[in-house]
Amino acid sequence: MNLQFAKILVLAPHTDDGEFGCGGTISKFAGTGTEIYYAAFSLAEESVPPPYPKNILETEVKAATKVLGIKPDHLLLYKYQVRHFATHRQSILEDLVKLNLDLAPDLVLMPSLHDLHQDHSTVAMEGLRAFKKTSILGYEMPWNNLNFSTQSFIKLTKPDIDKKTRALECYESQSAKIYASKEFIISLARTRGAQIGVQFAETFEVIRWIF
Ligand SMILES: [Zn+2]
Repeated sequence: MNLQFAKILVLAPHTDDGEFGCGGTISKFAGTGTEIYYAAFSLAEESVPPPYPKNILETEVKAATKVLGIKPDHLLLYKYQVRHFATHRQSILEDLVKLNLDLAPDLVLMPSLHDLHQDHSTVAMEGLRAFKKTSILGYEMPWNNLNFSTQSFIKLTKPDIDKKTRALECYESQSAKIYASKEFIISLARTRGAQIGVQFAETFEVIRWIF
């Protein structure tokens, strides 16, 4: 089956989540002419480690999304306070409803409904509310997923994985995290590829499927 989407919207609670969860898939579809929008809901200024400037994630997400082939004006940044999304649930939902009206994507990529991070969980739940009439796939973040159902896979090429690791290398301020290791990113893509008999893949939970 050769799927083609006109417009994909990636929901990233924090700036690097989309690259981690579905960077290879973004690269794949950006290369086929699909319009890709990336909405990040926090610049996580309170989590930036010293000596980096508090707004470093804004600089890093611009560089990372460019590597993946996302146009600068398709990067949408919101400034919710990291770890406090639940307090602003309704406001986030209203932003998502507006995104749906403005963009009308035919596929939404967002955190899994089984993601334990409180901000990821809010974006997943409100994302489902806002985009219930749209196909939605939940991306994998093994360090946050209590469990994950590998229901669907997107096959990737070596250049897609190279772009994913290069995009993540733009996040110098996050490089100390264990899961930021290039070896880990490639190994996970190889693991998911091996499940379906190809070299590289990303896996997704099917949250809504409308075709
Ligand atoms: Zn996050």
